[in-house]
Amino acid sequence: MSAQLLEGKVIAEKIKAQLKEEIASAKAKGSRPPKLAALQIGENQASAVYVKSQMKTADALGIAYELKVMPGNLSQADAEAAIGALNADRSVDGVILQLPVPPQVDAKRLVDLIAPERDAEGMHPSNLGKVLLGKWTVAPCTASAALALIESTGVKLYGKEAVVVGHSEIVGKPLALMLLSKFATTSVCHIGTGERGALPEHVQRAEVLVVAVGKAGLIKGEWIREGAIVIDIGINRVGDTIVGDIEFEGASQRASYITPVPGGVGPLTVTMLMKNMVELFKKRHG
Ligand code: NAD
Repeated sequence: MSAQLLEGKVIAEKIKAQLKEEIASAKAKGSRPPKLAALQIGENQASAVYVKSQMKTADALGIAYELKVMPGNLSQADAEAAIGALNADRSVDGVILQLPVPPQVDAKRLVDLIAPERDAEGMHPSNLGKVLLGKWTVAPCTASAALALIESTGVKLYGKEAVVVGHSEIVGKPLALMLLSKFATTSVCHIGTGERGALPEHVQRAEVLVVAVGKAGLIKGEWIREGAIVIDIGINRVGDTIVGDIEFEGASQRASYITPVPGGVGPLTVTMLMKNMVELFKKRHG
């Protein structure tokens, strides 16, 4: 079998067209546009890339975007006050904290302070709790992007063997819960599974495989089950190229669908952030 490519850009365009229509129709009914406020503490290259991509996508969809840049030596108390001010601003529908933050600032504490109804990244414990309950309005963007790619194949997840490798709070854990809520039989593998040498047996069982670890070539092509849907979230720099966690050549001979790296999950994540924004806006303004 030679796998079909699951390109994030294609799905992102479809979702963006839907969002654009929803926003335009709200505006036609007299509503103001949704507004996303981004808090950036200090300057750094990674943040600058994300901010640029967020601004561009927001602009294309008709979402207002406000970037608040605070000095790199900001204290935790002042950072908390800045989040408080954004929570209290009635013109703001969604808040995002740009990562990374300087070392004196506790990012997790700041995310916990974002009001759940303004939590554009779906990372507040209350919103993660709703993912656990299978009743989410917003969910972590990378996990949502992976689910959107899987669902774009038309597969019925009910009863399918799904294996998620990686159990981080931003990707693996929420995605496993999302797959579970679709009644996939879901296993979660992590460093303990890897060190025990048990990854091959789990991966070989997967009809849907998602890997989010950050180790190039961790998953061997020959482990992939024939016909599997394979989503590679890993981003690894090898020399001048970016590769995922899965051996692409071998895996694409066996899978039915596979994401390229780059070009798979990555291009969809900002779109899922905007989708979260629109969901928060609709919830707030009916
Ligand atoms: P993380 O470091 O928080 O978690 C890594 C996970 O991998 C942990 O659950 C750990 O137990 C597991 N792990 C480590 N070594 C292992 C091994 N040998 N066998 C099995 N499991 C092992 O990472 P993260 O933030 O979830 O990111 C994972 C990867 O996904 C990274 O490459 C990151 O760059 C990428 N990522 C991509 C996007 C995107 O938009 N495309 C977004 C977020 C993360």
